[in-house]
Amino acid sequence: MTNDSLKKFINLKRETKGMINIDPLQAGGILTDEARQTLVEWGDGFSVCDFCQGKLSEIKTPPIFDFVHNVLPEFIGADAICLTNGAREGKFMIMYSIAKQGDFIIIDKNSHYTTYVAAERTGLKIKEIENSGYPEFKIDVNKYEDAIKEIKKENGNIALLLLTWPDGNYGNLPDVKKLAKISGKYKIPLLLNTAYAIGRMPVKMNELGVDFVIASGHKSMASSGPIGFIGMKKEWENILMKKSQYFPKKEIEALGCTARGTSLMTLMASFPKVVERVNQWPEQVKKAQWFSEEMEKLGIKQLGEKPHQHDLMFFESDKLFEISQKDKRGRYFLYQKLKKRNIWGIKPGLTKHFKLSTFAATKEKLQKVINAFAEILSSYPQQTL
Ligand SMILES: *Cc1c(COP(=O)(O)O)cnc(C)c1O
Repeated sequence: MTNDSLKKFINLKRETKGMINIDPLQAGGILTDEARQTLVEWGDGFSVCDFCQGKLSEIKTPPIFDFVHNVLPEFIGADAICLTNGAREGKFMIMYSIAKQGDFIIIDKNSHYTTYVAAERTGLKIKEIENSGYPEFKIDVNKYEDAIKEIKKENGNIALLLLTWPDGNYGNLPDVKKLAKISGKYKIPLLLNTAYAIGRMPVKMNELGVDFVIASGHKSMASSGPIGFIGMKKEWENILMKKSQYFPKKEIEALGCTARGTSLMTLMASFPKVVERVNQWPEQVKKAQWFSEEMEKLGIKQLGEKPHQHDLMFFESDKLFEISQKDKRGRYFLYQKLKKRNIWGIKPGLTKHFKLSTFAATKEKLQKVINAFAEILSSYPQQTL
């Protein structure tokens, strides 16, 4: 190892910083100015543990105790909160602590891949609820009841129902309250995956009637991450947060401690602004619907529920696909043309189907995105296709 070969690791620059960001993965995780300062202040390893007496959530300085025990539960209507390193870790923790190998989990077909791998790691059998297919891909929650009956007939044990709300492809919001009634009727707990909801839109788990929610700090709460949390009803607290018999302060499912660093500190520093932005959710929905209408005027079709109720949207364009087959840059032409216009977030190589989020960009910036699509489409006259 020479000094020269190590040089590339210092002064790492990020090419996409400051661009108009419509990447669904990133739009809700952009740091507030306060969190950006906090990131540097608390960057030293284990500095949050200065005054820890054995349990992260009990630390009073910085005010983690108040955040975990008072502020977050009130924010989402939970009885208790458990910090995790992300939404997926929350899902796995719930599945692993309440289910046995060979049990069933019933999930919606629009579930995130992490739902599948968490269930696989736990050794669960997965039963999928199909969506309605093109063009809306909706989940009808009544189908959960059919699935429950089917599994029970074969004497299968159902440990958990899971609904993705909204899902990460189409941004659809299925009827969670109706599913909560089904969950109550059959006494099977319900986990709501709100990786794209908590921190963007109002979520009160007690009003929705679910047993668990999982949230993602770097996805939707302006944290550097990786961090997330579980919100739960009281009855699950002792099961999920069971203590070690050797170390009475340490929770087993958390392996003793989770988000011990800048992930938690930036989550807290952004939180006041996150509360404000959640109150402005109706404006976010209006902005998304306006954007969708403008795209449709250009012949780019929005799939998923309509009128749309979330900033994450999936689009389809035959024309952009046709262009990609003629253009010398091939399927990368769209990505390159958008990047040249300072627009980031549509995956390189996609043209026919792509998703994006209108959450972070202002209406003025989104108008630039629409103008960019209009320009790109009109620069390829019909006859050359
Ligand atoms: C992003 C995402 C996840 C994973 O979130 P992490 O916090 O990174 O684990 C899970 N579910 C959905 C629906 C997502 O969009």
